[in-house]
Amino acid sequence: MVSGETHYIFGKRYGLEFIERRGKHELKIPNSRIVQLFVNPGTSRDNRAQVLAEWYRQKFHDIIPQLLNKWQPIIGENVTDWGIKKMRTKWGSCNITQRRIWLNLELAKKPIECLEYVVVHELVHLLERYHNHRFQAYMDEYLPPWRQYRDILNREPLEDF
Ligand SMILES: [Zn+2]
Repeated sequence: MVSGETHYIFGKRYGLEFIERRGKHELKIPNSRIVQLFVNPGTSRDNRAQVLAEWYRQKFHDIIPQLLNKWQPIIGENVTDWGIKKMRTKWGSCNITQRRIWLNLELAKKPIECLEYVVVHELVHLLERYHNHRFQAYMDEYLPPWRQYRDILNREPLEDF
């Protein structure tokens, strides 16, 4: 993680400006092209990446409750809880018996519509466990362009944080 690297935040591309200074680690987006990462001098690469991951995580905590408030009444099912999980092969998952959904933090790099698609997809699993015709019919009903969002997610493989 060094200055000049490119980072994606909700589908938009930003150049990274890496600034060492004493104090709290911070991430700022001063304009539509630049992400500034303020860290203490000598901060390791892993810890720098952690500042960005924490920022993504905070964004999820702002956005996911809004998406759940929007979609749960439409779909007519509620989750008891949701969480963020590092997953190598999945964008999201749903534990049907516990009514809990998990979201992959990598979604913070994709267009926000993709995050919404995954939330809707996991909620629809509360209606239908399998990816069958019934499942697809629900998706078509609730989120007609869902295939387009799925394709965006499938286009690039998951990478490690
Ligand atoms: Zn699924």
